[in-house]
Parts: sequence; C-alpha cells; structure tokens
Amino acid sequence: MLPPESLLSDFLILDQSIHGQRLVYLDNAATTQKPMPVLLASRHYYEAINSNIHRGTHQLARAATEAFENARKTVAEHLHAASGDEVIFTSGTTASINLVAGILALSGRIGPGDEVLVSTLEHHSNIVPWQMLCQRTGATLKVIPCHDNGTLDQQAFHSLLGGRVKILALTWISNAFGTVNPVAEMTRAAKAAGALVLIDAAQAIAHLPTDVQAIGADFLAFSGHKIYAPTGIGVLWGRAELLAELPPWQGGGEMIKEVTFEHTTYNDLPFKYEAGTPNIEGAIALAAALDYVNAIGLDAIHAHETALIRSAAEALGGIPSVRLYGPADRSGSLSFSIEGHHHYDIGTLLDHMGVAVRTGHHCCQPLMARFGITGTVRASFALYNTPQDVAALVTATAKAVAMLG
Ligand code: PLP
Repeated sequence: MLPPESLLSDFLILDQSIHGQRLVYLDNAATTQKPMPVLLASRHYYEAINSNIHRGTHQLARAATEAFENARKTVAEHLHAASGDEVIFTSGTTASINLVAGILALSGRIGPGDEVLVSTLEHHSNIVPWQMLCQRTGATLKVIPCHDNGTLDQQAFHSLLGGRVKILALTWISNAFGTVNPVAEMTRAAKAAGALVLIDAAQAIAHLPTDVQAIGADFLAFSGHKIYAPTGIGVLWGRAELLAELPPWQGGGEMIKEVTFEHTTYNDLPFKYEAGTPNIEGAIALAAALDYVNAIGLDAIHAHETALIRSAAEALGGIPSVRLYGPADRSGSLSFSIEGHHHYDIGTLLDHMGVAVRTGHHCCQPLMARFGITGTVRASFALYNTPQDVAALVTATAKAVAMLG
C-alpha cells in the first residue's frame, strides 16, 4: 500500500483551505495536480534551455531538442512502444482522436456501408470525431450497449463485429463510471474481424500500466494532464507501418521534407504528424510526470486507489437514497446520485465542506441518457488521496443529504 502522506509535500496546491476546510481534491478524472518535479521540469526548461527545436545549430536549440526527443523516448518506454517513431506529441486525447479520425477519413479506407464501432461508455471526444468521419465518408456509427451495472454487453459486441466494422474506438476506463473494459480481449476480437482499433487511454494512463504491444491495438491516445503533467500536451501512439501508410494531417513546418510551389514531400515519422512548433515544455514535463509515476509504480498506485474507491463505495452505498453507478471493480472514478436531489446541489454543498468533486454529464451525455439521468456526482481518485479524504467525502455527503432533507 502506498503511503500517500509521504508524497503530499510534492503537491503544494493540496495544502490549502477551501471555505475554511482542508481541501479534499477528488476531481482527478477531470485533471490531476502536478508534483514538484513536474513543475521544476517546466521551470527549468524556460529558465535554462527555452528555444525552438530541431533546426537550430546553437547550443540552446540543441539542448531543447535533446530534452524533447528524450521525452519522446520516455513516453515510448512507458507505453512499451516498438520505437519513438510511434509516439506523436499532440495537445491531448481529443486532438489525438481527431487526428486518427481525420486521416482515416482522408485515406479512402472507409466508405459508404462501412461501420465505425464505439461504446455507450465513451466520452464525447471518442464519439463526435467518429460522427464527423461518418458524415464525411458515408459510414455508419454503431454502438456497443452496456448492462445496468455499467459494463459493456460483450455478446452484443461480438454480434456487431459481424458487420462491416472498419474501426473500433473504445475507452479503456470510463471517466463517468470507472468501468474497466477488457481492451486486450476486445482488441483481439475486433482485429480478427478485420477492424482497426483505437484505445482511448485518457483515464487508464494514470491508473494502469500501459503496454501497447500487449493490448495489440493500432492507436492509443492520452492526455498529459490526467497523469500529473501540464495541460496542452498529449500523445497519439500508432503502429509505425500504419502511420507511415496513412496520409498526413495538418500541413506546415516540420512535417515536410521538401517544399516547392508545385509539390511537397512529407517527413518521416513521427514528424509527419507534428506540424508546427510543438509544446516543447509540455513534452519535457510529461516525461518528468511519467518518471515520477514510475518511481512509485503504477501497480502500487492502482492498488492504493482501488482500496480507497472500494471503501468510498461501501460507505456511500450505506447512505440511504444514494445510488451508485458502475461495477464494483471500478477504477479511478466513482459516480453516484442522491434520490430526489440534483447532482449540482450536492456538488455545491460538498464544495462548501472543502470536498472538490465533479457534477454533471462528464461529457458522456449518451451514457447518462442510457441510465435516464442528466448527470451524477463523481469522486475520482489519484495517488495522493488518503483514507481521510474518503472519510471527508462520506461525511460531507451524509451531511448534504441531511441538509437537503
Ligand atoms: N476520453 C476520456 C475517457 C476522458 O476522460 C477525457 C477527458 O476527461 C477525454 C477523452 C478528453 O481528454 P482531453 O480533454 O484531455 O482531450
């Protein structure tokens, strides 16, 4: 079990009062707080080596390029990617998924009569880009339904693969309910049916070790800010031979080999998909965040968070009128509602007691519609949360229920 108390001093932001109460930060699925080594990596970049990368001959440009490319290596190692060429820096999960949907639409690989498969659990970021691809190509969006306990209907999934599915776009962990999908197993089935597979690892990245080769998908997307790194940096991992074949996306500097007014030739991977000046500091800080997490160990982090989420579910489930969503073995997020009360009112009362949770549809309106609700209260956990945080959440929720009557 992780001793989060020993790590709390790395997260200065957590040492503050909100409405006179100790801050209890349980909105980690929206964004995580950043530890000191990550803040120092960003600061060091701007204080010591800030420069544009790749084409400079001067010392700062070389130092910034080296730090940026080392960051790519750190990400590749973290993901168990075959090489750094498979790691494309983007601004986040949303940008990574839009990139894949955009290049697939351009590629001519998907057309009328083809199908794109997503699940009921998806975040809007893993729905809307595929709807746009369908509009552009004439393909049809199909949806894997879920059971009442928030897990996907695997039988329905297998029957849907009988059609003309060209790509399965699937979240690994649901940001709304914490459901952990069996991504390796589902990837195997989809690949056997001839589909490409994209895994949305926006949530999973901070809770589970990621091995892209073991999962066997074609693409995987995540955001730095969900794993203790800054906003504005993210990753698209893609199989090199596939990315090499697919068309370029945005045009501009860095993604070219040679430009004339008549014709342009494109750069090799990963630069082909990195047009323009990237978020250099963000990539370096992301590598610092991955180093930080790996020094603790994702298995230890997962075990710690799982113990917290289980005890929170058990205690909240004991409050009359609380309804929990998602399966018992959820990861990261715990969603609940209180009969007869709006999630927003609960969230506001919790905030007044120092407990930061998120309320609303969590960018999962179709999932909320499936459960006949407009939103939930969501507590989401990170490595720095403690049993005291769980106790504060439960006490504050019980008080909110009593206050609302
Ligand atoms: N997918 C999932 C499962 C998420 O939880 C999120 C963010 O909450 C996203 C995609 C979008 O991530 P971003 O806003 O960082 O691009």
